[in-house]
Amino acid sequence: MMNSSVVVPVIDVQSNNFKELWPAMVLAFKTSSFIALDTELSGLGARKALLAESIEDRYKAICHAARTRSVLSLGLACYKKLDDKADRTYLVQVYNLTLLCAEEYTIEPQSVQFLVQHGFDFNKQYAQGVPYDKGNDKASVWQTETLCGGEPQGVTMRTLFVELLRANKPLVLHNGLIDLIFLYQCFYAHLPEKLGTFTADLSQMFPAGVYDTKYAAEYELRFTASYLEYAYKKCKLDNSRSVAAAQDGPHVFLEFCNYTSRMQSYVDYRPCTDSHSCDGPLNICVQFSAYGWCPSGPSCPMSHDTDLIIRQDEKSKEDKRQKRKRRKKKKAAKQEGEEEEDETPRDKKAHMEDEDKDGEEKGERKDDEKVQGKFTAHDEEMPSGEASAAGSQTEPGTKESDTPQTHEATPDVRNQGPKASERKAEGGTHRAGFDAFMTGYIFAFASIRNAGESDSWIPACANKLYLSGKSVPLHIAKSTFSKSSRAHVTKMEHVCFRSVMLC
Ligand SMILES: [Zn+2]
Repeated sequence: MMNSSVVVPVIDVQSNNFKELWPAMVLAFKTSSFIALDTELSGLGARKALLAESIEDRYKAICHAARTRSVLSLGLACYKKLDDKADRTYLVQVYNLTLLCAEEYTIEPQSVQFLVQHGFDFNKQYAQGVPYDKGNDKASVWQTETLCGGEPQGVTMRTLFVELLRANKPLVLHNGLIDLIFLYQCFYAHLPEKLGTFTADLSQMFPAGVYDTKYAAEYELRFTASYLEYAYKKCKLDNSRSVAAAQDGPHVFLEFCNYTSRMQSYVDYRPCTDSHSCDGPLNICVQFSAYGWCPSGPSCPMSHDTDLIIRQDEKSKEDKRQKRKRRKKKKAAKQEGEEEEDETPRDKKAHMEDEDKDGEEKGERKDDEKVQGKFTAHDEEMPSGEASAAGSQTEPGTKESDTPQTHEATPDVRNQGPKASERKAEGGTHRAGFDAFMTGYIFAFASIRNAGESDSWIPACANKLYLSGKSVPLHIAKSTFSKSSRAHVTKMEHVCFRSVMLC
C-alpha cells in the first residue's frame, strides 16, 4: 500500500472522436464533485513582464500572450465523490484534448523544442487537433441555435467550454492565473482590458468557486515546496502513510472506469511510479528542489527526482524538530522561555535568493514554475547513478520548524521501486491530462481537513489565485467598482438560458 504506483487512464480526445466522446465528457462534468484543469500552451512571450511587480501589469502581459499565442492541449480531470464508499473515494475520469487554434498564432522555437522533448506530438496536433476560434462568438453561432430551436448546438471546443460552465462545479487549477486568462481568450470571449473586470467575470462564470492548489500547497498544507509534482507526490505519500498507519479521519481513494473495447482504443494508461531507489546523502539540485524547474534541464548533473527531494525535505524537518526538542529541554532546565519561529515554504526560496544575489537573473522572480519552467525545463528524469553521489547540496530553510505535520510516520526509504531509467514515460505525452489529474488529487487531499462540513471544500482557499512573488493571492470576486464585460454578459445569458431550458 505504501508505495503503490498508480496507473491513470487518460482518454485521448481529438477531432476524429470529439463528437463521439462529447456525451461522456458532458456527463462527467455534470456528475462530478469538482473538475481539475490544466493547459499546454504554445508559448508565453517575455517572462519578465509576466512576473511584473504590479498585478495589473502582469495581467496585461498575460493577456497579450493569450491574444498572440494559443492553447495546444487541455487536460480535464473530473472527480466524482462516491457517497456509498468509505472515506473519500472518488471516481476519476481524465481527458486530454489535443487542440488546434484556427487563427494565426506565434510559436516560439524554445517552446516547441521543450514540448517536443517532452513528448508533445505536433504531427498529431496538426492532423487531429480539435479546431477552435479565439475571442468572441461569431454571430452565426447564435443564429444557428435559434434556427435549430431546442436541438443541441454545434459540438465545438467553445460549446464544450459552455458545458463546463453549465455544470457549475468547483474549478481546480494549479497556479491557475495564466490558464484562466488563456481559457477566457481562447474559448470564451475577448479579454477585458481591466483585471477587475476579468475577476468579476470569473466569479460569475464559476459561482461554485475557483481553487488554486499551488496556493493550497503553500498556505494550507504548508509544504516545503509547492510545484505541481512535488505537491502531488507529497499528498500521495502522506495519504498512503495515513492509510498504512490506520490513522483516524478520511483518506483519499481513487477509482477509475473500466473502459470497454471501443473506448479502450482511446485510452492511454499512464503509470505514475514512485522511486525509492536511494537512501542517504544525495546530490539534489537546489534550484529544482525549490522551484520545480532548473535552467540546465535534462543536462543538469544534480538530481531532479521529486521523491528524493521530498524525503530530503522531510528528513531535514525532522532533524530540526529533534534539535529543537533538545534545545527546549535545555531551556526548560534554565527556566528560559523563547518564542519559536514558524517555518514557511519560503525558507527554501529565501535561501535560494540569498545565493542568487550576484546571479544574472537578479530582479527576476524565480518561483513560478509555469512561467519559468513550462518551456525551459520541467524534467524529472535522471539516471539513478547520478542521484546517489555523496554530499548533500540542499540546506532548505534556516529557521526552526513549528509547522504541524499531518502525519508523523517515518518515511520508508528502502529500495523497492523501479529505477529512474524505467520512469521515462512520466515526462511524456498527455501532460495536460495528467497534470489535471495531479491537481485534482492535491485538492482532494487538501479538502480532507474540512471533512465535517459537507458543503465546503477548502473555505480558506476559495476564489484565491496564487501570485508568484506575492504573499497575498488574487481574489476572484466582483467588487462594487468593477463592471462585468459586455461580451461576458451576453455569453452568460446564453449559458443560463440553456440550463433553464434543460431543467
Ligand atoms: Zn538542476
